[in-house]
Amino acid sequence: MLGQFCVYIYVIIEFQKKKHSRDGSLSVNKLYIKEVNEYPGGKPGPWKQIWRNKVPTKVKCFSWLVVRRACSTHEKLKSRGFKIASWCSLCNETEETNNHLFLHCKVTTQLWNLFLGLTHTEWIMPEHTADLLSCWISRGGRKSKKKWWSIIPSCIWWCIWKERNSRCYDNKANSIEKVKWNCLTTFYFWCKEEGIEDIAQILDFIGTL
Ligand SMILES: [Zn+2]
Repeated sequence: MLGQFCVYIYVIIEFQKKKHSRDGSLSVNKLYIKEVNEYPGGKPGPWKQIWRNKVPTKVKCFSWLVVRRACSTHEKLKSRGFKIASWCSLCNETEETNNHLFLHCKVTTQLWNLFLGLTHTEWIMPEHTADLLSCWISRGGRKSKKKWWSIIPSCIWWCIWKERNSRCYDNKANSIEKVKWNCLTTFYFWCKEEGIEDIAQILDFIGTL
């Protein structure tokens, strides 16, 4: 229901941008179906995984924006015509794009490596966030692990976005140790809030730190 609502909002925005079909007509229903089934690149998107994920509703919406590359990064703002000097506020080494900020930035990479290392998971980072989510879910393992495993990408993205905004708008930068700690405590809190039964496994996971 929430997923449909967000997609309809997106469709309305696209409608206002006058994305017509070749014959000049525009069907909201057709556009809805297209947006539900495809992400940039034309492949089926991991939408169900996002909306079924055991995270707060606002985080589901945010993850959906990240996977659709619709988050208000410098890359997105520039695509909308804003004249801004783009830089990554986390590493200050390159432009801020959706894929860099949420996947490849050296600060973000440390969060990925934290979870991958603790779960002894070998991983090659894909290029796009949607690819990551599709691959990540398939590596979830047994059902009890899947519940908390699927939370990890949203948790990393949420914490990175908060840290990015803190640096951009409040001129406050946390140390990488603090960013890691915030991410792990957020992860633990969400697991507990959502009543994930396999909490002992998560406690063991945090306890290895
Ligand atoms: Zn960076």
